[in-house]
Amino acid sequence: KIELVDIDKAYGKDKPVIENLNLDIGEGSFTVLLGPSGCGKSTTLRMIAGLEKETGGDVYISGRSMKTVEPGDRDIAMVFQNYALYPTMSVRGNIEFGLVNNKLPKEERDLRIHEIGEIVGLTDFMSRKPQSLSGGQRQRVALARAMVKKPSVFLMDEPLSNLDAKLRSQLRTELIELHHKLKTTFVYVTHDQVEAMSMGTDIVLMNQGKIMQQGSPVEIYNNPHNVFTAQFIGTPP
Ligand code: ATP
Ligand code: MG
Repeated sequence: KIELVDIDKAYGKDKPVIENLNLDIGEGSFTVLLGPSGCGKSTTLRMIAGLEKETGGDVYISGRSMKTVEPGDRDIAMVFQNYALYPTMSVRGNIEFGLVNNKLPKEERDLRIHEIGEIVGLTDFMSRKPQSLSGGQRQRVALARAMVKKPSVFLMDEPLSNLDAKLRSQLRTELIELHHKLKTTFVYVTHDQVEAMSMGTDIVLMNQGKIMQQGSPVEIYNNPHNVFTAQFIGTPP
């Protein structure tokens, strides 16, 4: 479980981009942070990851304050829109890189790489170089590299936005399946309400640094609490 308690965030001396944000992300949920461009989704995700420092308030992961915990010591993995693979390394090498700081015995490393390779459907591509793969296959390598260390929280910031529509919908389905298999807490950022509603178990709709509504897709669709939510989600009036 992740808790954000009374979070404020300002960049430098600018006016705050997040104000008094309180959010609970359930253990094992597939939580989607949804909202228009600039509303603070990436900032929120980056504070969970420890890549941005909150100006006020506290982030808790599994009940533990993250105040003094460096990103590398948090039990998380993160995938961005512009993930970078190592072009000179094979797919296997790229995935293994996700274990770079883990002092696991060789057999355990091999087992994990094999397991995650199967889950994301890369078994036949392990010795290939990234430039010989399709966009969707590369994205799967990035997912596998992040997941191989078995984090308890998996953070994704618009990971599918560079893919074409067909591939995007295919990978959405695969991410839902991945979530079922791993039972890890997923936090997924998107500005696309269709993507959010089709993938999330929990939707957190944000606007201008605030949470407008949180709930299951069905709750949010059937019972929007404000005009912004109704319009953004497209509930008929
Ligand atoms: P998008 O959907 O476009 O990615 P977002 O919801 O992820 O938007 P953020 O990137 O969190 O939005 O940005 C929230 C606000 O903070 C924006 O007004 C943005 O200009 C500002 N901001 C983000 N990063 C910085 C930064 N490094 N320095 C100053 N301001 C920033
Ligand atoms: Mg963003």
